[in-house]
Amino acid sequence: MICPLCHHEKTNLYERVQDRTYYQCELCSLVFVPRVELISFQHEKERYENHQNSEDNSDYIKYLAAIAEKISSKVTRGSTGLDFGCGKSLLMEKILGQYGFSVSSYDLFFHPNESVLEKKYDFILLSEVIEHLRDPDEVLRKISGLLKEKGSLIIKTKLLTNEIKDFKNWFYRRDITHVQFFSEKSFLKLGHLFQFEVYEEIGEDLFIFRNNG
Ligand SMILES: [Zn+2]
Repeated sequence: MICPLCHHEKTNLYERVQDRTYYQCELCSLVFVPRVELISFQHEKERYENHQNSEDNSDYIKYLAAIAEKISSKVTRGSTGLDFGCGKSLLMEKILGQYGFSVSSYDLFFHPNESVLEKKYDFILLSEVIEHLRDPDEVLRKISGLLKEKGSLIIKTKLLTNEIKDFKNWFYRRDITHVQFFSEKSFLKLGHLFQFEVYEEIGEDLFIFRNNG
């Protein structure tokens, strides 16, 4: 099995859970589901359609506002951003707008507006996206190219840490649409692959990658 992040060929069986297997890359430590075991595009879309992320869900609004608050503490007001993998709703774009950012949204399933992928941004947000990507290397390469010089990549995902003792029953693992799990080591490799000098945790499961130079 080849690592979908760094393409290293040395990977080892990490866990087997019912009809799914998980491999781990020897180089970047990414834990991933072999691409042949992924569910269909249609099945995946149906899963996302059932997400209760609507504009009248106050918990969801609070969740997004907390992310926007953290972003606003690290990114200059007035910056332009892209919410890549926004899902069904365009709520994050609206909330970030209230924080003084000018944000566009893209979602492969619900808002496949390719024209937003022709512009450049000060920051790109991947909120609960990176663990779903069928080809993380390709997508990260593409969106890194959409960042202005010294632009920031902001990623929200749960890291696989030593505290996760029971991977099989980890709620994050059990979501069938989560097909890779990053560790700190995977994040270091990600930074290296896509030319970010540093990454910093700026909130719960929220990380910013950027260049200081
Ligand atoms: Zn790897």
